Amino acid sequence: MKQAMHITKTTCPYCGVGCGLEVSKQTDGSFKVAGDPTHPSNQGRICSKGAALGETLSLDDRLLQPSVDGKPCDWDHALDSVAIRFNQIIRQHGPDAVAFYVSGQLLTEDYYVANKLMKGFIGSANIDTNSRLCMSSSVAGHKRAFGSDSVPGCYQDLEQADLLILTGSNLAWCHPVLYQRVLAAKKARPQMKVIVIDPRRTATCEIADLHLAIKPASDSFLFNGLLNWLHQQGKTDTRFVAQHCEGLQQALQSAQWYAPSSALVAEHCGLSNESVATFFHWFANNTKTVTVYSQGINQSSSGSDKVNAIINCHLLTGRIGKPAMGPFSITGQPNAMGGREVGALSNQLAAHMDFDQDLHIDLVERFWQAERMARKPGLKALDLFDAINQGKIRAIWIIATNPAVSMPDATKVRHALQNCELVVVSDCIRHTDTTRYADILLPALGWGEKTGTVTSSERCISRQRPFLPPPEAARADWWILASVAQRMGYSGFDYASAHQIFCEHARLSAFENAGSRDFDLSGLAAISTQQYEQFSPLQWPVRAGDSTGQARLFEDGKFFTANKKARFIAVTPRPPGGAVNVDFPLVLNTGRVRDQWHTMTRSGKSPRLNGHVSEPFAELHPVDADQLDIRDGQIVRVQSRHGEALLRAQITPTQRTGSVFVPMHWNDQFASMAAIDRVVNACKDPVSGQPEFKHTPVRVRPYAARWYGFVLAREQINTDAVSYWSRSKRQDLWHYELAGEATAEDWAGAALEMLQSVDQDTQWSEMFDSAQQTYRAARFIDGRLDSCVFISPHFTLPARDWLINLFSQPVVQRSDRLRVLAGTPASAQQDSGKTVCSCFNVGRNTLIQAIKKSSLTSTEQIGSCLQAGTNCGSCLPELRELLAQTATG
Ligand code: SF4
Repeated sequence: MKQAMHITKTTCPYCGVGCGLEVSKQTDGSFKVAGDPTHPSNQGRICSKGAALGETLSLDDRLLQPSVDGKPCDWDHALDSVAIRFNQIIRQHGPDAVAFYVSGQLLTEDYYVANKLMKGFIGSANIDTNSRLCMSSSVAGHKRAFGSDSVPGCYQDLEQADLLILTGSNLAWCHPVLYQRVLAAKKARPQMKVIVIDPRRTATCEIADLHLAIKPASDSFLFNGLLNWLHQQGKTDTRFVAQHCEGLQQALQSAQWYAPSSALVAEHCGLSNESVATFFHWFANNTKTVTVYSQGINQSSSGSDKVNAIINCHLLTGRIGKPAMGPFSITGQPNAMGGREVGALSNQLAAHMDFDQDLHIDLVERFWQAERMARKPGLKALDLFDAINQGKIRAIWIIATNPAVSMPDATKVRHALQNCELVVVSDCIRHTDTTRYADILLPALGWGEKTGTVTSSERCISRQRPFLPPPEAARADWWILASVAQRMGYSGFDYASAHQIFCEHARLSAFENAGSRDFDLSGLAAISTQQYEQFSPLQWPVRAGDSTGQARLFEDGKFFTANKKARFIAVTPRPPGGAVNVDFPLVLNTGRVRDQWHTMTRSGKSPRLNGHVSEPFAELHPVDADQLDIRDGQIVRVQSRHGEALLRAQITPTQRTGSVFVPMHWNDQFASMAAIDRVVNACKDPVSGQPEFKHTPVRVRPYAARWYGFVLAREQINTDAVSYWSRSKRQDLWHYELAGEATAEDWAGAALEMLQSVDQDTQWSEMFDSAQQTYRAARFIDGRLDSCVFISPHFTLPARDWLINLFSQPVVQRSDRLRVLAGTPASAQQDSGKTVCSCFNVGRNTLIQAIKKSSLTSTEQIGSCLQAGTNCGSCLPELRELLAQTATG
């Protein structure tokens, strides 16, 4: 019997909601992960990704030993090698010849040490974080409007709003627990209105009273139009604007010029006049309005302007710094906010200070007793990898991130890494698309082993606490960085603990602050080790003498600009970086799926998460698919000027015509050619440097496959001879989808070559239909299904899910064995279909059948019948959609 033994309170390592978790070790050695009922962010809730964290803790594929030039070594040699080689390059070429590329996965303490080392001691600001790709446009927008990178509100505002606008945010899939909170609030107050602004009809649209399927990249017209219209309608909060803002006239002039009427706004945005009018009226008539925005706004070559266009509307109406009002940026990564706090973006200093103020540079220099203080901003991510390609940067240290997959124009990034004189990679995973370029590999701790703090999207600082010992040689990132710093000859890095670093970070935030800067942790600067261990979540600022933190900023109407006034920013809408044309007529939009995280290095280990979407795909509208002669389920080639990807076509009316959606998660470890950032263009926002992941001109063509197939096997297979493959880890087996351009003369031989680890003497049951050109084979060992292979000239192949379920049977019954080769389950019941509820492994077919058979009409009834939707609730939007479809079908 599994029984909880000890509970560790920690924080989820995935998204920016920052849910508190309770991890308990079971008597069988496994770990159960549940929502922490005492954590303010989630109050006990959890999503499918958080709930499956226990499945990601194995040491399979962990990096556990340092290595230099491909040879395993001890820490002394590895640390010395990094220090000596960095020092050599700095001596010969100067401090700007080296760089760090770090990550929102790092804890604040790790981030702090990395930033201090680069900016205070190496003497360059060439440290950038992958948060550049996620929310740097929000940072730029905040700083332009508020004089500081401050998120004004908190999650409660979303629940208390009368009008919630979600723009460029698929909250249901990307921030599921916050979505659950909104859903509960709307259920309690059905009069609360929700508007979703998104070119796609995403799962979030389920709660939308109004969905604006906006033309890609036209957001600035919409919010400029709103600003202009609100002003025309007398909705300006004249007292607030006069006392607390500046720059309205310029912003209005721009808005009036580019968006003079709602009719023109509707035309620019590809929307109906009625829907634009409804949006404008609802905004005007609901004082309690919150506008939530995320990657759909930020990941644009005019992301900063879009952010300011949104903020402008809130400043005009005085809806900021008050309960249930305000613009609200939600971050992708768990500690993107922590990175912003320590200044891990190359254009920032530490503790929300800036290079454009000599006073700040001087202050940080004195506080750190910096030996060689950087005095100008460093290179932002795209420029940084370009500088490697140009030979200007000769050494890069990549920490906890996978730029070979996640950067736009990723082939160019791989080229940079291939040719860089020195590539150091710290990671907890051994095989990533980036570690293959490393000269020096340093094993870092993984979630579950780390100790430190993270900050959520609402400025809430929480502890991550370890519940596992460091495996083998793996060490904390702050320890690795501080050890290298000491070996490079720098003082000020003799840290003994994460607690010590946190206190230094808090002291810096307080240093000569006196209310002049938003980021202030003076109240935490002297906390004891015990207080750090017992730290309860708290929203900054936490000023001296304050133990409660602060839910909202700007309540007094004072901002962090020189004259304390917020600034309107005049927004000139700009076209996206790349325009569609006859060669590349469609717009590629990249994003996320419900159950995967970033480049899958962690979530890809979880069998239950892989059940939801097991293969990379390209979503197309039926009209586009018709024109291109593409059918649902076919493999397609998505090409841009930069690269191409092979993906399974999914044809759906939820996609906008002219657009293609592809998830960003798959990498070379999980598919032959699905790393979509190879296709994404490298256009960027001139203010924030954030790349445009949502708008790349592409063409889509059917892939000329001569055969399609799939393999289910207990061992990984050899895919060297296969042109299209994708794989996913399921419970006790690997699931491969395959396709190729050349038909094998001997399918049995080809299958055996793929299943190379298989005992060649073991008997196969085979079926080859030469007329149909189909090949099917299965192998049973001691009555257990060991592997099966299905090949066909057509992409319509037998259902996989019932076969996958057969693998869990200790002995497959004779009747089922015969059906394996026939490719048909005994009854519809046996094919559960694609996983909808990951927590209880409930498939689509099972759900449809139960809804029909038992006349189920609510998710509660589904829960009682099948348990689906009763744990994390991430599948509830899909359950409701199934109920609706089944009722109308
Ligand atoms: Fe983790 Fe899910 Fe919470 Fe995000 S919403 S922090 S992924 S549990």
